[in-house]
Amino acid sequence: ESAGGPPENPSFVVSDSRIGKELLCVVRALLKKIKRMVLVGDKVLVGSVDWTDRRGMIEDVFKRNTEILDPPVANVDHLLVLFSMDQPKLEPFTLTRFLVEAESTGIPLTLVLNKSELVGKETISSWNERLHGWGYKPLFCSVDCRSGISALEDILKGQTTVIVGPSGVGKSSLINSLRSSQSISNEEEINNLLEHDESSKWFGEQRVGTVSKRSGRGKHTTRHVSLLPLSAGGFLADTPGFNQPSLLKVTKRTLAETFPEIRQMLQASEPEKCSFNDCLHLGEPGCVVTGDWERYPYYLQLLDEIKIREEFQ
Ligand code: GDP
Ligand code: ZN
Repeated sequence: ESAGGPPENPSFVVSDSRIGKELLCVVRALLKKIKRMVLVGDKVLVGSVDWTDRRGMIEDVFKRNTEILDPPVANVDHLLVLFSMDQPKLEPFTLTRFLVEAESTGIPLTLVLNKSELVGKETISSWNERLHGWGYKPLFCSVDCRSGISALEDILKGQTTVIVGPSGVGKSSLINSLRSSQSISNEEEINNLLEHDESSKWFGEQRVGTVSKRSGRGKHTTRHVSLLPLSAGGFLADTPGFNQPSLLKVTKRTLAETFPEIRQMLQASEPEKCSFNDCLHLGEPGCVVTGDWERYPYYLQLLDEIKIREEFQ
């Protein structure tokens, strides 16, 4: 909870996943001096622990497996791209932008379509077929009817997931229905754990936790990120305000890799591949990527957009 400090000096809630204890931690001045940023999701070393007041100090940040900056979260192992079947309507180009942005991180993604109770069976099955054609296996759910939620829980188990998607599709509703009601386990459980685990000590220096940052009270305008523990284990990042794919990390060279259709055509042609190393798949001689697939016009449109941006950089 950054309630204590000013925004430029935020505190973090560090939780120990094994014992379920949470500590409010400031960042050691030295870390800031050497510009070691602490991100939500970081595994950190905590010292100067005061268990009574539940306070501590972040002494060091461990090497990250992944790092995404929009929203800024470390060690994310899964992205959930959430859209709705209706209200707002499922719009293929908007969906493509989000998928491209998600694919560009290299982190595995699941495409989930909410509000499925608002449309008929035929609509669902035709979208299902269409999205398979794009290279995705979508999951249909309805937070309102609690359908498809347990399948989703299985997928999220034990992972740190970031949910992305446009506003109004049900991200907050889904997060609320999935989050664990009790994030801090009881003392008895903790004591049992310590009794059976010799290596476990009460000293913060030895504890590696997961960082979650909580907003100051009522500051809904700031784009803050927090990691919410899930009842089945794992974390879900709550990222209000991050609902516009910037595509800033996608270049005209890397765009093709974000389309499963292109990846598949390149793979199928192996060991041939396109004649030119830097082929943009615009009908160059010896290009193995054809133009006869549904999202090819979207690929061209995004390529144009990125080219224009790159010219102005
Ligand atoms: P967010 O902007 O993506 O966080 O979306 P919200 O969670 O705020 O949801 C937007 C609206 O959609 C709210 O009025 C929700 O009650 C509604 N909503 C969420 N899930 C469902 C669903 O499964 N079916 C229907 N019909 N409405 C839903
Ligand atoms: Zn090509």
